[in-house]
Amino acid sequence: MERHRTGLRGELLIDEPLAGYTTWRVGGPARRLYRPADAEDLARFLAGLDPDEPLLWLGLGSNLLVRDGGFPGTVLALQGALDDIWLDGPEVVRVEAGVSCAKAARFAAREGLCGIEFLAGIPGTLGGALAMNAGAFGGEIWKQVQKVLTVDRCGAMRERRPRDYEIGYREVRGPRGEWFLAAWLALQPGDTDAARRRIRSLLVKRNASQPIGQRSCGSVFRNPPGDHAAR
Ligand SMILES: Cc1cc2nc3c(=O)[nH]c(=O)nc-3n(C[C@H](O)[C@H](O)[C@H](O)COP(=O)(O)OP(=O)(O)OC[C@H]3O[C@@H](n4cnc5c(N)ncnc54)[C@H](O)[C@@H]3O)c2cc1C
Repeated sequence: MERHRTGLRGELLIDEPLAGYTTWRVGGPARRLYRPADAEDLARFLAGLDPDEPLLWLGLGSNLLVRDGGFPGTVLALQGALDDIWLDGPEVVRVEAGVSCAKAARFAAREGLCGIEFLAGIPGTLGGALAMNAGAFGGEIWKQVQKVLTVDRCGAMRERRPRDYEIGYREVRGPRGEWFLAAWLALQPGDTDAARRRIRSLLVKRNASQPIGQRSCGSVFRNPPGDHAAR
């Protein structure tokens, strides 16, 4: 382990095996892995990188298969970093990209807000969910997005609106060379007990129909129109 020496506050790891960072539990080493202290620290780290440095953004690694040869560049690991979440208006929650989907769902329920209960059983981060329009039980993350904060490889941050993206089924296309730092989710006023009940019932359904706890990246099938691939 090595601490970066240029005023950065995050943690830089060299030749870090990635198997422990993915739900498949496989994958060789990253040449470098950086876990930022916060968004500003991450922007500063990016600005100091060689412009040709290959980058891999990593949330909870629940939708990522890393080859045995590892990654010949820098992994930006947001799990355990960028993990703030707060109310930013009466019905708007600002969620950083490293916040787990489960934490976001629980936070909204506690605040009496509805619309993201479906996130409770998705074992990823908000950043990973935004990258692929994660969804379950009829909900999809981008249906709730008011705006996002992105960063590019020079460290420049921008706010973007859903209209800046092509959003499809488990697919999101947006401005090249930008990654997600946070999102503002617009939710509906509701009731904490009802939201918690819905979370519990969705988790029961999920546990009954999926091999939770085994090494996987979840479903690898697309839902047919109007139906579910999971049985
Ligand atoms: C048991 C199990 C059940 C699952 N159930 C569901 C489900 O019901 N619905 C569903 O949609 N998915 C499901 N998944 C898949 C997975 O959890 C989701 O795709 C999740 O959104 C991935 O988030 P992550 O943080 O783990 O992303 P990672 O696996 O770390 O990364 C996935 C992709 O997103 C990119 N990425 C990560 N963070 C960022 C960022 N900040 N900015 C830009 N790009 C980024 C990565 O580079 C990579 O390309 C399941 C997976 C498992 C293992």
